[in-house]
Amino acid sequence: MQTVLFHSTIFGPIHSRRLGSSLGINLMPDDGKICSFDCLYCEAGYNAQGKGSSGLPSREKVRIDLERKLASMQSDGHPLDVITFSGNGEPTLHPDFADIIDDTIALRDKYFPDVKISVLTNATRIGRPAVADALRKVDNNIMKLDSAVEATVEALDRPNAGYSLEKTIEYLAGFGEQGIVQTMMCCGEHDGTIIDNTTDEEVEALIAAYRVIKPREIMLYTIDRPTPEINLKRVSKDKLDSIAARITAATGIPVQVSA
Ligand code: SF4
Repeated sequence: MQTVLFHSTIFGPIHSRRLGSSLGINLMPDDGKICSFDCLYCEAGYNAQGKGSSGLPSREKVRIDLERKLASMQSDGHPLDVITFSGNGEPTLHPDFADIIDDTIALRDKYFPDVKISVLTNATRIGRPAVADALRKVDNNIMKLDSAVEATVEALDRPNAGYSLEKTIEYLAGFGEQGIVQTMMCCGEHDGTIIDNTTDEEVEALIAAYRVIKPREIMLYTIDRPTPEINLKRVSKDKLDSIAARITAATGIPVQVSA
């Protein structure tokens, strides 16, 4: 099993395929993973590897560590494009997520007013008003929708009990152009179940969902690093480009491809 964890609350900046020079904020433990999904492709590994022992960083720790890093980057003249919430799990699970967003906006405005703030979220908690309100304050809400076919979401993303695809699409639609939808395209198998979200049926289902959601943009990407399920394969750039063209033709929504 792959277990590539971020071992600090603030990490990077790293160069992101999709976001540029990105300073990361990990609101999950330094030595474990916590997520409401358990994706077969998760670079942080499966949830079964455990939550670690460090616990979640406090709001205070996030603020102090972030300010220290931004102040040092500013005095070094270090370029920065974006501050990104990602890391070892789902950031919106942090109980102080909304306050941490407020602190981050204040620090961004103080040190790098032109820098964007992005949140990578699996969208499992966007139905909660406090989470949704916080997300609406940031520049880029990048929300996961890997499939609009229930069985594929269950097989690929393996959500916690209580997840509803229908509700998630409804909540995503509530963001409309304030949201960016991100879809991981891959194929392979896991425990004898074939997984392929690039088929005609899958793409048509996604198009129907994107039409309802009407996001500002769609990001299609594929596997870039080793995944916990080794029988999952990346999708070629040509295939992603062709799916992207089909989606844009059907919906009018711009699609960004990373491969
Ligand atoms: S939603 Fe993200 S952090 Fe959670 S399991 Fe999937 S890839 Fe990993």
